[in-house]
Formats: sequence, C-alpha cells, structure tokens
Amino acid sequence: MTDCLFCHIINKEIPSKLVYEDEQVLAFEDIKPQAPVHLLIIPKRHIASLKEAEENDQNLLGYILLAARKIARDKGLAESGFRLVINTGPDAGQEVYHLHVHLLGGRGLGWPPG
Ligand code: 5GP
Ligand code: ZN
Repeated sequence: MTDCLFCHIINKEIPSKLVYEDEQVLAFEDIKPQAPVHLLIIPKRHIASLKEAEENDQNLLGYILLAARKIARDKGLAESGFRLVINTGPDAGQEVYHLHVHLLGGRGLGWPPG
C-alpha cells in the first residue's frame, strides 16, 4: 500500500513519535492528541479496517490487544485505566484506512462517546 499514510509511517517515510515497535506492530503518538496519552497501535501488515480483517487475522488482532495492554502498563495507566477505540467506517469517523487502535488515557474519559 504505497499511498497509505500509516504504511508510510511504518516505512519511516513519514516521521512519527514512536513508542513501541516489534515485528508485527508499531505504536506512535497521535498527531492530534485527545488525552494526555493518545497513541495509535497498528499492524505492520496493511489491513484497511476491522471490516477487512479475516479469520486468519485472529492471532494478529489478539497480538495488538496484548501490545496495547503492555504499552498502557509502560505508560503508567494500569491502575488509572485507559480506553481502546477502533473506529470502523464512516459513521465511526474513520479517517485513516489502515487498521489502528487508539489508546487513550491520563484523564477521565466520558461515556458515551460523541
Ligand atoms: P481515525 O479517525 O481514522 O480513527 O483516526 C486517525 C487518527 O490518526 C486521528 O486521531 C489523527 O489525529 C491521526 N493522524 C492523522 N494523520 C496523522 C499523522 O500524520 N501522524 C500521526 N501521528 N497521526 C495522524
Ligand atoms: Zn497501510
């Protein structure tokens, strides 16, 4: 996916503030943070959205959640709490069509979301 913003970030063609990287996932700071901690966790393999994920992505999806848990702990959010968000499609306001999990924390988060 040469025209995908997050693939460009994975390939280091666009700079980002990386907080975590391994063979399968990358985590970096959101450019427009909505909370004191606002990170995006993405698979290195391009998947446009959760809608496009398939049965054989089961391990990868679980891997992303466990990476989020580890990163939240490293950011000191284990006790205060945090929220994971996966915007999927137009009604959810998905802007970037490369699957990403928002990790939000560091303040009380309202519910329900807007
Ligand atoms: P979505 O609305 O698709 O769930 O979230 C996309 C997120 O990507 C938004 O929170 C937006 O601020 C973030 N974003 C958009 N462009 C960039 C960028 O170039 N760099 C970084 N780090 N985040 C971006
Ligand atoms: Zn991509």
